[in-house]
Amino acid sequence: MSGPTGMKVTVAGAGALGSVLALFLADAGAEVTLVDPGGRPNASAVAAGMVAPVFEALLDGDTGVDFAVLSEAAALWGPLSARIGVQPDRAGALAVATAETLEAWEAAAQRLGATVARRSAGEAEALVSGLKAADGALFTTGDFRIDPAAVLAAVARAGSVRRVLGRIAGYSAGVVRLEAGETWAADRLVVATGAAVGLAEAVPELKALRPIKGHILRLAGGPSAGPMVRLARGYLCPSPGGAIVGASMQPGRCDTEIEPEVVARLLDQARAAFPALDGAGLVAAAGVRAETPDHLPLAGRSTTPDMWIAGGARRNGWLLAPLIARALTDALLSDGEPQLPAGFDPRRFG
Ligand SMILES: Cc1cc2nc3c(=O)[nH]c(=O)nc-3n(C[C@H](O)[C@H](O)[C@H](O)COP(=O)(O)OP(=O)(O)OC[C@H]3O[C@@H](n4cnc5c(N)ncnc54)[C@H](O)[C@@H]3O)c2cc1C
Repeated sequence: MSGPTGMKVTVAGAGALGSVLALFLADAGAEVTLVDPGGRPNASAVAAGMVAPVFEALLDGDTGVDFAVLSEAAALWGPLSARIGVQPDRAGALAVATAETLEAWEAAAQRLGATVARRSAGEAEALVSGLKAADGALFTTGDFRIDPAAVLAAVARAGSVRRVLGRIAGYSAGVVRLEAGETWAADRLVVATGAAVGLAEAVPELKALRPIKGHILRLAGGPSAGPMVRLARGYLCPSPGGAIVGASMQPGRCDTEIEPEVVARLLDQARAAFPALDGAGLVAAAGVRAETPDHLPLAGRSTTPDMWIAGGARRNGWLLAPLIARALTDALLSDGEPQLPAGFDPRRFG
């Protein structure tokens, strides 16, 4: 932690990106105000919390972010989890598929330089109760999981951050304005408002964002421990409170209404590998991710002076949060450019 810098930074949005950034900024000595209207859970709160550089790089053809960058971000969870006092679940991850698909994934992992190991059906099934993996699986210890609700609470406790309940309506001449009328001075405003584009008039780069709705299920039963299980479609994360089954990708949708047919489809996908899984105690939630046309985040300066953006992290906002937070903190406080891939620059869309 550093001494005061005298820099006043306001962050709009207390999701994964805004909350972790606010903590990093405060630890680096900035005077930080974090603003969020609260109310319904944001995408960060409903997420599964997988920090999965290996299987996101292998299984999501649209990830866009290089495996090396995903891995660098994942490594930053070590110091971050120690800082906030949470323990990631490091049981690793299994990917279950046909023998042919497993072979293709294994070859792709080799090309990426990702460490994976083949597990026989018996070995894989011994790792997660109820799993049926007829053709075996690929296993990695490179992926792990954090509990989003616990992390959001721990980050809120850890940082010396002023928290304001409200919605930012604008920022000009160094003054932040809430919808409710309150104002205060800030040297910089960082917009980390997820899929919301209410500030797009002030920060035109937000117009590049597109929503992707995602359903996720929390079950009362299912495996409570062991590696996360990635399927050709979807995943199941064992958790002490019951299994977490996700997640739909519904581009263009920005509502959080629960659709029974999507819930049924997710459950069916999980049953392909967990035949005995029932829907007892099922609670469905939906959140809205934000993506850009090239699938890369928006992280850096806006063309509008003194305004910065942290967003567009698509399905890897938790994974990328410490990397984006570290780079934006250094850049904001030194008035430099963030040490991030050039493709993350929000100004790339003109
Ligand atoms: C079903 C599902 C599963 C997922 N699983 C994973 C996973 O396993 N691993 C992973 O890394 N990622 C996962 N993701 C993606 C991840 O959740 C997102 O990338 C991440 O949450 C985005 O964080 P954010 O801070 O940008 O946005 P959000 O979490 O959406 O937060 C934005 C916040 O901004 C606030 N806000 C909006 N407008 C204003 C305003 N004008 N003023 C102030 N505040 C405002 C909102 O209230 C909100 O709280 C998942 C997403 C979904 C939907």
